[in-house]
Amino acid sequence: MKIETIAVHAGRRIDPATGAVAQPISLSTTFERDADGEYSRGFSYSREGNPNRNALEECLAALEGGKEGLVFASGLAVVTALVQGMEPGDHILAPAEVYYALRKILGRLYKKWPVEISYVDMTDLDTVRAAVRPSTRMVWVETPSNPLLNITDLAAVAAIAREARAISICDGTFATPVLQRPLDHGIDMVMHSTTKYINGHSDVVGGSLVTRYDNYLFERARASLKFGGAAPSPFDCWLTLRGIETLPYRVRAQCETALRLAEFLQAHPAVERVYYPGLPTHPGHEIARRQMSGFGGMLSFGVRGGKDEAMGAVARARVFTRATSLGSTHSLIEHRASVEGPGTATPQNVIRMSIGLEHFDDLAADLDQALQP
Ligand SMILES: *Cc1c(COP(=O)(O)O)cnc(C)c1O
Repeated sequence: MKIETIAVHAGRRIDPATGAVAQPISLSTTFERDADGEYSRGFSYSREGNPNRNALEECLAALEGGKEGLVFASGLAVVTALVQGMEPGDHILAPAEVYYALRKILGRLYKKWPVEISYVDMTDLDTVRAAVRPSTRMVWVETPSNPLLNITDLAAVAAIAREARAISICDGTFATPVLQRPLDHGIDMVMHSTTKYINGHSDVVGGSLVTRYDNYLFERARASLKFGGAAPSPFDCWLTLRGIETLPYRVRAQCETALRLAEFLQAHPAVERVYYPGLPTHPGHEIARRQMSGFGGMLSFGVRGGKDEAMGAVARARVFTRATSLGSTHSLIEHRASVEGPGTATPQNVIRMSIGLEHFDDLAADLDQALQP
């Protein structure tokens, strides 16, 4: 089935008790046991499993073409669950330009954990090969990356990980399964911050993990979810599943507007550089064309000047909302380096935007006036 159909049908069932077409929200924390002590209807206690959570997991696994899915209370709860599954002495390989909070979790929260992490330039395959160790158990990929939209070759990195007997995991938050299905390129598992495009309306924080096959890290992540307690609420699962219904259409419109804005900005005298994989001048453009069916709704650009000029332009935006996060129906704009804080590698003149569903003309006019000093 095509992705538009999966987005509307996967995980959905007519409610057997009432015939309700929209799934009821099951708020019950506990479920009736059979007389013989079994739970023949599949549920016992809501931390361990809930009908709304199951429906969302089933839908996400189908969207990714995976075997099974898990959903968590946030994207970072997925990272936590995966790190909890590592053994002492295990080595993780991650991109130098990884989502900044992942570095923060590994560097702060898990500082005392006996796992080793190296950050490498994932766009350089020789560097990735050279960084693999006998103890490498996890290879983390993020493509397109946040916030500079670097592109990693999924099939190539998956092959390096496989040879090293490590599990490859792709953070596919920026691309969504509509534009990129990492499992089809040999990646073992894919995670999302469902907070972003998948829910798509800036009203739920959540995360997901989908696997291509049974593996110990996925099983340990499941245990962390069920018994460690990072479970999302039934209402959050319900809202996210509802958001998914329009995902393919939202993402396609967002891609179209983002590409036009990238071209508009590239020709703008106040702009020094545009970071968008849809532009032929982007260093990852050819790989993006191979592994993605569209280039996404995220777009960064550097203004001529530095922090002051970038902050000034963000301050003047009117149609764009000054806020972090991404993937919603409304466009967002931010000075990325100040969101990431001290020590960030993001250039001070960079503005990151998440393109929403507004008309191109209104967004372009807003940027044009914001870029006049
Ligand atoms: C937001 C984000 C995360 C973290 O997800 P939360 O839902 O905020 O915990 C991870 N990776 C990327 C690429 C993100 O944009």
